[in-house]
Amino acid sequence: MAKILIVEDEQDFYEPIRAFLTRDHHVVEVVENGLEALDRLRFYKYDVIIMDWMLPGMQGVDVCREFRSSGGTTPILMLTAKTATGEKISGLDAGADDYLTKPFDVGEVSARVRALLRRPAALTGNVLKLGQIVLERDTHRVTKTGEEIQLLPKEFALLEFFMRHPNQVFSAEALLDRVWASDSEASPETIRTYIKRLRQKIDSKDGPSLIQTVHGVGYKFSVELD
Ligand code: CA
Repeated sequence: MAKILIVEDEQDFYEPIRAFLTRDHHVVEVVENGLEALDRLRFYKYDVIIMDWMLPGMQGVDVCREFRSSGGTTPILMLTAKTATGEKISGLDAGADDYLTKPFDVGEVSARVRALLRRPAALTGNVLKLGQIVLERDTHRVTKTGEEIQLLPKEFALLEFFMRHPNQVFSAEALLDRVWASDSEASPETIRTYIKRLRQKIDSKDGPSLIQTVHGVGYKFSVELD
């Protein structure tokens, strides 16, 4: 059982999600206004937040940013009607952990919620720690065993995406779709180049790469989770 807050003003969207998650034995609360959501988050604790982008009172992305800057670490799934990857990235920059584009399947929402609930606390919020790598989103700083690693913005974005989805395999096309803008000129070859550069920067000379190639499928950030 988890306690879940849905922040969404359109009943047609939140009602099926609420019904589905309630049947899954979760406690579900709904607020329809961004400011009200922020207020609620100040006083109550939830296990997952499902947040719409377009909200009365305050936009979902701003609620997200405020909540994170006040130290909130609850995983956030953003719902967005926006399909441009640039906007997805600004959602992730604001502190969302995952996003789903409308219209969505309720089963998919539920699957994403389950994935967020399984995620250890170290993988949410603004500081990600996995193995020896620490990624601080606010300062755009990455360190390995305390030593700073200089990354280009796109290398940083790619590493952050991998760290948020450890041990999951993504094809080059999926990485393009999730990390690059939809209007970018990048190709799967671009991804291969970035992964090569990222490996050179984050891997130890001896030992296997943190970003493993799964032949014929794609790549995964391989790490033991405690
Ligand atoms: Ca809305």
